[in-house]
Amino acid sequence: MQIQRSDGRPLGYGGRSARWRPEGWLRVVLGAILSALLIWSMGAALAVEAGTVRIGVLAFRSLEQTEARWQETARALEAAVPGQRFQIVAMHNEALDAAVAEGSVDFVLTQPEHYIILRNQHGLTALATLMPLAGGKPVAQFGGVIFSRAQDGLRDLHDVAGKRVAALYPNSLGGFRIQQWELVKAGINLPSDVAHLEFLGQPQDNVVSAVLQGRADVGFVRTGVLEAMAAEGALRLEQIQVINPQSAKVFPQLLSTQLYPEWPFLVRRGVPKELSKAVTLALLNIAPDSPAAYTGQYYGFSPPGDYTPLEAVLLRLRAHPGRLQHFGLADIVDKYALPLVVGLSLLLCAALAGAWLLFQDRRRINAALHGLEQAEAAQRIAAVAFETQEGIVITDASNRILRVNQAFTQVTGYSAAEAEGQTPALLKSGRHDALFYQHMWSDLQNYGRWQGEIWNRRKNGEIYPEWLTVTAVRDPAGQICHYVAIFTDVTERKAVEAQLEYMTLYDSLTGLANRRLFRDRLQQALYTCTRSRQYGGLLFVDLDDFRYINDTLGHSRGDDVLVEVARRLVEVVGEAATVARLGGDDFTVLAGSLGTDLAEAAARLEQLGEALLQVLGLSYHLAGGEYHCPASIGVTLFMDQRESAEELIKHAELAMYQAKEGGRDGICFYDPGIQVEVSHRLELERDLRLALQRGEFFLCYQPQVGADGEILGAEALLRWQPESRGLVSPSLFIPVAERTGLILAIGHWVLESACQQLVLWQQQQATRHWTLAVNISARQFHQAGFVEQVREALLRTGADARYLKLELTESQLLLDVEDTIAKMAALRSLGLSLSLDDFGTGYSSLAYLKRLPLGQLKIDQSFVRDIGKSDSDDAIVQAIIGLAGSLSLEVIAEGVETGQQRDLLHQWGCRHFQGFYFHRPMPARHMDSLAGVAG
Ligand code: C2E
Ligand code: MG
Ligand code: MG
Repeated sequence: MQIQRSDGRPLGYGGRSARWRPEGWLRVVLGAILSALLIWSMGAALAVEAGTVRIGVLAFRSLEQTEARWQETARALEAAVPGQRFQIVAMHNEALDAAVAEGSVDFVLTQPEHYIILRNQHGLTALATLMPLAGGKPVAQFGGVIFSRAQDGLRDLHDVAGKRVAALYPNSLGGFRIQQWELVKAGINLPSDVAHLEFLGQPQDNVVSAVLQGRADVGFVRTGVLEAMAAEGALRLEQIQVINPQSAKVFPQLLSTQLYPEWPFLVRRGVPKELSKAVTLALLNIAPDSPAAYTGQYYGFSPPGDYTPLEAVLLRLRAHPGRLQHFGLADIVDKYALPLVVGLSLLLCAALAGAWLLFQDRRRINAALHGLEQAEAAQRIAAVAFETQEGIVITDASNRILRVNQAFTQVTGYSAAEAEGQTPALLKSGRHDALFYQHMWSDLQNYGRWQGEIWNRRKNGEIYPEWLTVTAVRDPAGQICHYVAIFTDVTERKAVEAQLEYMTLYDSLTGLANRRLFRDRLQQALYTCTRSRQYGGLLFVDLDDFRYINDTLGHSRGDDVLVEVARRLVEVVGEAATVARLGGDDFTVLAGSLGTDLAEAAARLEQLGEALLQVLGLSYHLAGGEYHCPASIGVTLFMDQRESAEELIKHAELAMYQAKEGGRDGICFYDPGIQVEVSHRLELERDLRLALQRGEFFLCYQPQVGADGEILGAEALLRWQPESRGLVSPSLFIPVAERTGLILAIGHWVLESACQQLVLWQQQQATRHWTLAVNISARQFHQAGFVEQVREALLRTGADARYLKLELTESQLLLDVEDTIAKMAALRSLGLSLSLDDFGTGYSSLAYLKRLPLGQLKIDQSFVRDIGKSDSDDAIVQAIIGLAGSLSLEVIAEGVETGQQRDLLHQWGCRHFQGFYFHRPMPARHMDSLAGVAG
């Protein structure tokens, strides 16, 4: 029964104080709890709504210096995220911890180890990883260096055992922990397995000095420290020996350990998704040459690295006990705070109200009943908490599944009935090896917790990634009694990340790399070329008249052209090279490893440019019509890092404008010197293409003589007399003919003409016995059907093959040994003989030479030139003559210019000679008069 006052309020304590009325009291408490919860859950949004976003940055120098360093980054974020003000708050470790705990910062930039702790304690997530500049090079990772003095001869991790070690301080990741872990993996524990371990504190130079001065045998520093000291002149890198050195392919600096991701940029839980997405994009878009990167002394930000291995190391090294090792209540509170607070508060209220009602009237019993309803509600809430969106599996100590929630069923496809009684092995994908699971179990046994990404298999067979946290629950006796696994299906997140990465790095229309990715690849190519001392090249392609197509046919047709241009470019350069679209109709092509010779590299680039111009010159079929849209190309070469990637792009672009000015549809080099050379070669090439049909070639003959100076034959030497210029030396035009493939037609002509000459000689008594040597280029020799060509030339002209000699060079015979030998044998079977020209300049081994069906070795003129003056040349020439004798080959010396050379050669056993001392190359009619034959 309810007893009511006249005003309708319950009787009892109204006379004392209204505060004490049960509903009022309950309402106040609930109200307070609810508003606290509301404020708590709104906390994140408040800062953002106010328009100021606070970024907490860990300071390891002064706060002012740190704030100044990141100021421009905040400006860059403001420019990219309109309507928000970004404030940098530099803090030392403890202050930053407190700010994160109370939620007064939205984003955090801190060192990786600190991140692991923050993630464990407050659930912060990494959005991006900083790429600092290390010695001018961008790196998104860092590691540790373990080193000794060069003279101490330590190289292996095991050499560290029993030595005196100097490190930074126990909690330093790069200055101790990473190295400690590397040694633990090799079975060496610190400090027990070393003679002495001393922590010298910042700066890291202390460690280096201790090792150099012999106060310690082994030092630990972070990557980059040694190079930085070397750059300042405080150290010569030859003074030290890196222990367990890792390949430079893995990392550009000295390194002894595994690598870990650099500083992460973190977002606090509760920050609106839109904002964190916008900030992520803005960070990834910061360009290396922007004020933000410049002032921040970094290269940019990359998508977040994987920090799980680092966490595993910290757990295994038992670093930060209490902050990392013990998972449990704090994490559960952290994860399910809202339902727990509501549930517990309601339980508390209900219990208090129940106690109160024991002493009060029925009405109060009713109120208690009401409280109990609330308690039931709390239980229901707890049940709802179990049914979160995250999958939950609870197993017993032997890993049998006791319970799963609905999210588990949704993600895996297994119903509770199907899962219960099984082990989680039910979900194994087969993607992880036994070691992976071994590590997981050993972590669970040793530290009570494992967290990481794992690939599992759904009931329908589909494999998917999940983020999994497994916690061991211990009974009061400390024995593990249950395992609780909580997981989220991250398939979608991964897809979004991949999509995000794609969007930031690729052009959406053509699928080519965008400017950002191209710049990265160019930067990479710059390092590679600097190291290998090779040239690389950059081509800037711009379409002439693209605007016309866009304006007359519309943008959609314009887009079709751009897509087709991209396809054609990729087709020419192949998938391996980088082709990018910088925007509009500007495309770039990166060509690496062009060799160490500048002229050669320029020639190759020019060839590539020509090939590109050719495909871009083809017509486009658009809207039922045929359109042309040729291009202009600017080219620049690079080798060392004198220019930045951005400067190189600029140079190539400038050269492209010059190409346009020069009449479009052409190529222009940025370097004027190279451009002149390239232009000359282009002209030469153009003239050479016409030379055959214009009949500008003729042959000269240089006699080859015997021991008494009698003529035994001659070598045919090609001459080119273009209309427009003087006689061109074969050493100038033969390489061009080789490169362009013109040598095939020219060589064919030489062969035919030489055979005709041979026939003429064979018709005269005085010259009948003369042999004629013809030079054969590599490309000609390796061309299919070459043997056939020679046979036909002999047949057509009627020349006697026994007097024809083909001169091959060593280098061309080294290409495809078996094919070469077969071809040479086929040529020999025609009846002709083979001579090895320029002998001594190649790398033929004796064993190889023995297998070749040769008749003659021709000593290269570079050795002949200095005989009598150079002991080594004397020795080489004598050796060649000896070698020829032992292989039963004839030997001839070319380039004989003096009587002394001739005498020495004769003295050493050489009986055949060619050179200015006897005769210069001459037209055929002069040869005839030499033999006393009328022309
Ligand atoms: P090679 O086959 O080694 O020809 C010998 C070169 O040495 C010729 O130069 C010749 O004029 C030069 N020479 C001869 N005696 C002396 C001497 O006493 N002192 C000096 N300093 N030089 C001497 P050339 O005619 O300028 O030819 C250069 C190269 O061009 C030839 O070297 C050969 O590799 C190539 N070549 C010439 N004609 C042809 C041809 O018809 N086909 C092909 N594929 N290559 C040819
Ligand atoms: Mg020759
Ligand atoms: Mg020669």
